[in-house]
Amino acid sequence: MEDTPASNFLQSIISDDIASGRVKEVVTRFPPEPNGYLHIGHAKAISVNFGLAEANQGRCNLRFDDTNPEKESQEYIEAIQADVRWLGYSWDAEVRYASSYFQQFYDWAIHLVAQGDAYVCDLSPDEAREYRGTLTEPGRNSPSRERSVADNLDLLARMKAGEFDDGAKVLRAKIDMSSPNMNMRDPILYRIRKVSHHQTGHDWVIYPTYDFAHGQEDAIEGVTHSICTLEFEDHRPLYNWLIEHLPVPSRPQQYEFGRLNPSYTVTSKRKLKELVDEGVVTGWDDPRMPTVSGMRRRGYTAAAIRKFCDMIGTTRSDGVVDVAMLEFAIREDLNENAARGMCVLRPLKVVLTDYPSDKVEDLCAPGHPSRDDLGERVLPFTRELYIEVDDFREEANKKFKRLVLGKRVRLRNAYVIEADEVVKDALGNVCEVHAHIIPDTLGENPTDGIKPKGVIHWVSASHGKNAQVRLYERLFNHEAPDKGDNAFMDHINPGSLEVIESAWIEPSLTAAIPEQGFQFEREGYFVADRYDHSSDKPVFNRTIGLRDTWNTQ
Ligand code: ATP
Ligand code: MG
Repeated sequence: MEDTPASNFLQSIISDDIASGRVKEVVTRFPPEPNGYLHIGHAKAISVNFGLAEANQGRCNLRFDDTNPEKESQEYIEAIQADVRWLGYSWDAEVRYASSYFQQFYDWAIHLVAQGDAYVCDLSPDEAREYRGTLTEPGRNSPSRERSVADNLDLLARMKAGEFDDGAKVLRAKIDMSSPNMNMRDPILYRIRKVSHHQTGHDWVIYPTYDFAHGQEDAIEGVTHSICTLEFEDHRPLYNWLIEHLPVPSRPQQYEFGRLNPSYTVTSKRKLKELVDEGVVTGWDDPRMPTVSGMRRRGYTAAAIRKFCDMIGTTRSDGVVDVAMLEFAIREDLNENAARGMCVLRPLKVVLTDYPSDKVEDLCAPGHPSRDDLGERVLPFTRELYIEVDDFREEANKKFKRLVLGKRVRLRNAYVIEADEVVKDALGNVCEVHAHIIPDTLGENPTDGIKPKGVIHWVSASHGKNAQVRLYERLFNHEAPDKGDNAFMDHINPGSLEVIESAWIEPSLTAAIPEQGFQFEREGYFVADRYDHSSDKPVFNRTIGLRDTWNTQ
């Protein structure tokens, strides 16, 4: 299952290119459009591009493909850089922008026009669609197609000068209106957009299309392997056509791999933005979002995300990956690395009637069952404790291995106790349990031979601390929320967040710092919230439960 760099098809291509001398130094790039935050699919693309560069002692550029100013922003530019760094990668030299090559693209547009390979087209968007033909019918030549070079040069200059309105004219490559590949039917190279750009301000009113920009950016930067997802496969002939028809400084090649589509997840930036704009989530970094910043805030670790990206491999097919694999990678990492602690989510008070009210015993527990480097924690043991409401019943059958009236249970890392009576409120709900300690049961079984059936967690009522705990579940309750006719908004899991205000944490957890992850014993993995947590007002987010219960509920 594990995908070492040597075993994926892209690495084979690179190895062949190095062996044949086609490339000396491998240069890749990760080219996000700054029109949203990065998501799990981008994490895959990042691990592929940066990973291949690293594995081959090459370089990987971070380049903003910023050719659609209306949808882009500085906020996204900054968030994307922070996310790439957090994932553990560093790009070569300065961050790059497609927009810093705008003048070069324009010069190359003039070059194409002068060569007779591009023309200014007057068709309206509707007309252009009609002329374009269909998958089964060839397109027709635009009436503008046979314009003279001189007229085209003049019109292109006037487009740039702002003489025409948005949509009035476009620059198109002159290729083949009857090509079976729609991308080769005189594709648009430049369109008029009278909007300001986050990097170039009002310098430009015409902007290059993705197709005209991308390969040329790669060529300028000396990218050797331009790796993208499969939807660009049909654009490759155009990518190559432009490289062949322009005096570019190098000859990059495009390769495609399958997009990562995890189940129960949407990975379209447009849809993620809708979730944010509609207030379904609190922002791009809401812990339920499949964004890198959301996963980070949820307590997923960069190492586990990278591990997952390796585990699923890199292939040439688009398929759905079970999101449980991602969750597995998270659990595995946290099980190994997260310190342990006890937190009672829904407290029920237990009073140990035979334990003096002024007595405090400092019991010790390991920070981690197998990691000595995580030290020990002190658990003050006192007369009044909290246990989970669900861990007590007045009566129960043998399957219930927790505390039952008249029966025994072990308090984790502490004594065995036996429940004697309950105190009820006016509604008849148990609000307190009175119990007593079975002597000499620290790390020992009771001497009378009556062993407790189970172990439950607890926190001292007087020495623990109140915390807010946010219980997160998957955001969608449908395996493929946006496939086919599914309106993804109809598949929001209404129980994706439950906020508990009155959880009770053991004292060692008050030292948690934002983004520190823990295993709350018997409950799951939790992380101190990146923004809202403080030792005065602790806030923990549930990263993931201890086991995959999704399919067994
Ligand atoms: P969206 O469809 O959400 O707008 P995009 O592909 O347009 O995403 P870009 O910012 O252009 O987003 O993506 C940057 C790079 O990340 C591209 O090379 C793209 O192929 C890759 N990428 C995007 N989504 C995925 C995915 N789900 N799996 C793998 N790679 C992806
Ligand atoms: Mg894109």
